[in-house]
Amino acid sequence: MDLANACASGCGDGCASSRTESGSGMWPASSPPSPSSTVSTVIVKGTKVCNAGCTYCSTPPEDAQKWSQDDFEAIFSKLAPLLTEQCILIWHGGEPMLMGPDFYRRAFDFARKIKPEIRFSLQSNLLGYESRTWRGVFEDVFKGSVSTSYDPDEKNRLLRGNAGLYAKVFFDRLEAVLADGFHPKVISTFDEESVHLADSMYERALAAKDRHFNLRLNYRYPAGRAGGRGELLAPRSYGDMLVRIYDRWISDVPPFVVTPLDEMLKKSITIESHRCPWTRECGGRVLSVEPDGGVFNCADFADLGDPAHRFGSIWTDDAAALMGSPAAKAVRRRRVDLPRECQACRHFERCEGGCVRDAVLYGKGMGGKFHYCESWLMVFDRIAETVADGRADGAVRMYGGGPDGLRASMGAQAGGWRGA
Ligand code: SF4
Ligand code: SF4
Repeated sequence: MDLANACASGCGDGCASSRTESGSGMWPASSPPSPSSTVSTVIVKGTKVCNAGCTYCSTPPEDAQKWSQDDFEAIFSKLAPLLTEQCILIWHGGEPMLMGPDFYRRAFDFARKIKPEIRFSLQSNLLGYESRTWRGVFEDVFKGSVSTSYDPDEKNRLLRGNAGLYAKVFFDRLEAVLADGFHPKVISTFDEESVHLADSMYERALAAKDRHFNLRLNYRYPAGRAGGRGELLAPRSYGDMLVRIYDRWISDVPPFVVTPLDEMLKKSITIESHRCPWTRECGGRVLSVEPDGGVFNCADFADLGDPAHRFGSIWTDDAAALMGSPAAKAVRRRRVDLPRECQACRHFERCEGGCVRDAVLYGKGMGGKFHYCESWLMVFDRIAETVADGRADGAVRMYGGGPDGLRASMGAQAGGWRGA
């Protein structure tokens, strides 16, 4: 079955991997923000309960609270006026599969009555996957849009305190998911010690052939249990790894995607616009709802654990109050409040100044410089170079682009997006 992974999300469960494609989302350039119906992506966390215990969890469990069906219906009814018709709800956690399959069937039925074109996506550690109980939900509710997490250093993701046990159970469950015909996105996070292992993830996906899975290669970041540890992976190291994998990916043109490279390529060749985290316009387009009803711009902002970034509560505030809160206004100011260096950057059209949450996380503030700027510059430069010299033609065609037309438009931009 062809169940392409449409999930924009980064890490399934609450691991310290930017990006919850929580950022997550992509929205049409033609939908300017207005007071209503602009939110195209909502990260929903029905619980923070988890069946694993990872050392760097960005959303460690605080209590055993779980939303009931009534809770979800009340929350969704409140959110609905803000949502676009084709919005996506990304179920995150905690471990979202602990809500049980019936919860998602009933939630999807309810949401579709109000928004018939809504989509659900799941970010899960998959440890609870059993074909008998979950296959139908993965097909009918999530339409195959599932992402999960595994780190090849096998040090930080723990099941009953044991990293080896986590890896064993994870691969058993992943095999079951692949055997059922799904192609989840496996998100790996890297620090300075483990970044060289990204190649092994690529090779594992390549060797899987028909049972391939997609990849997401993220920098590990200091939030949640990893908070206060500072930079865990240098931007140059991350950029070197991404460029190395990009070169392999455009040469092999395998049947799987490698995020963020696929998304950076699509943004470069203008197949997509306003894709998190290369956007200054996420304010008002993305929302995140925590288990306690706290509303934030996105799960990444929620992970900071700073009440200053909280828009309010879905239980006590109406939609206008949430979107008009000081925290919401502060994120929307990113549209114009950007570092001068970004405004003059050769890749500004593609990067848009990067992720404002990360600017805050690394101490630069809401108008500050994105910490992994150097990594994005390296990748966007390599994309430009390989589109220009034809090495990326296969990947460009895979996305329906015309390499010759692209080269002509690059040439017309005299020093434009080629940059160098
Ligand atoms: S702040 Fe914006 S760009 Fe950054 S993760 Fe959140 S939604 Fe994405
Ligand atoms: S690549 Fe760096 S300088 Fe350029 S827009 Fe992005 S963050 Fe700003």
